[in-house]
Amino acid sequence: MEKKPFVTLEQVQEMAQKYPTPFHLYDEKGIRENARRLKQAFAWNKGFKEYFAVKATPNPYLMQILKEEGIGVDCSSYTELYLSDKVGFKGHEIMFSSNVTPEEDFKLASDLDAIINFDDITHLKFYEKLAPFHETMCCRYNPGGNFSIHNQIMDTPNEAKYGMTKDQMKDAFKYMKAKGVKHFGIHAFLASNTITEEYYPKLARILFKLAVEMKRELGVHIAFINLSGGVGIPYKPEDKPNDIMVIGEGVRKAYEEILVPEGMDDLAIFTELGRFMLAPYGCLVTKAIHEKHIYREYIGVDACAANLMRPAIYGAYHHITVLGKEKEPRDHVYDVTGGLCENCDKFAVQRSLPKIDIGDYLVIHDTGAHGFSMGYNYNGKLRSAEVLLKEDGSTQLIRRAETKEDYFATLDLEHFPKQ
Ligand SMILES: *Cc1c(COP(=O)(O)O)cnc(C)c1O
Repeated sequence: MEKKPFVTLEQVQEMAQKYPTPFHLYDEKGIRENARRLKQAFAWNKGFKEYFAVKATPNPYLMQILKEEGIGVDCSSYTELYLSDKVGFKGHEIMFSSNVTPEEDFKLASDLDAIINFDDITHLKFYEKLAPFHETMCCRYNPGGNFSIHNQIMDTPNEAKYGMTKDQMKDAFKYMKAKGVKHFGIHAFLASNTITEEYYPKLARILFKLAVEMKRELGVHIAFINLSGGVGIPYKPEDKPNDIMVIGEGVRKAYEEILVPEGMDDLAIFTELGRFMLAPYGCLVTKAIHEKHIYREYIGVDACAANLMRPAIYGAYHHITVLGKEKEPRDHVYDVTGGLCENCDKFAVQRSLPKIDIGDYLVIHDTGAHGFSMGYNYNGKLRSAEVLLKEDGSTQLIRRAETKEDYFATLDLEHFPKQ
């Protein structure tokens, strides 16, 4: 099985004349179609809203595209809030799901009338000194234990730093109810990059039951359940993609079974997807600039882990297509590396690929989320440009590449006169 890039060699050759490699490239058509599928999958829920996790890809042009599709934003820091405000997201179009939150972040979230999602019960008093509770507030739940599907452990909430225990959730809601809060949300994020259609339905069941319990015991109005992120994408060619329609239907069933009999059918479903919204619709375009023959065969490319960190830190698989050689046999075994002085700076390890020649363009797939945004400046490497492939086939530079002036902007080099 082969993953097909959303660009051809001819397109990249033309782009590379305007935008030197490496650059992250995004596919507007793919982004819009996927966003529409998601909305369709949850169209049965009147209040459904996706809040795109800004940290995944904090580019205002992409956020604008999502905004045009009716999507909101999920922020977790001051700068993400600031950016979202600049792009024009207003009030309840912004969810603020932070943790270890600084004062000024809470203040800005309150000023923007974002929906604030408290990570901990101690944050309530911390927050109250800074800003008033709003009519709608949310709390993040951590059920502890292991989170498993069919006896297979997906993740270990008991080791996760996020969220509150059930007792803390109840105390938090009681406290805020007494302070005049009218509508409550429940949020949880229990497993990441899941490639199973059962993650959201299973999470929904847990949260719906909690919502019923909270309503019965505390007499509070639960206005929404935020299923947060975690719906994964098929990074490997053999991975089976999630069918979002099946996921939406699974959540609907749980809703009908648990909430409707309780008369809680005004409850809105929110999601905070990052990876699912953008990862497949972005790629890192890079050029082979060196080859090296020692104990292994190496191909050195002009991108490095500073442009895409996931393979280096998680050993994550990102598929690679050598443009123009899609049909050639994969009869060479390479480590594809960047130039950081770190041996983990490898986009692929012992990967079977067609013979790569210097000057070949490589597409590293599925970098549209948690790609550029996890970039850094180690070894003085500069961040790349981001380019948008528009629906009409034209391209737009949506972030220029960093220059050495950007890199040195926080230093006063004038202080060091050359001798
Ligand atoms: C990271 C994050 C998301 C998005 O996660 P994905 O795996 O990209 O879907 C959503 N909500 C919160 C609070 C997050 O921290």
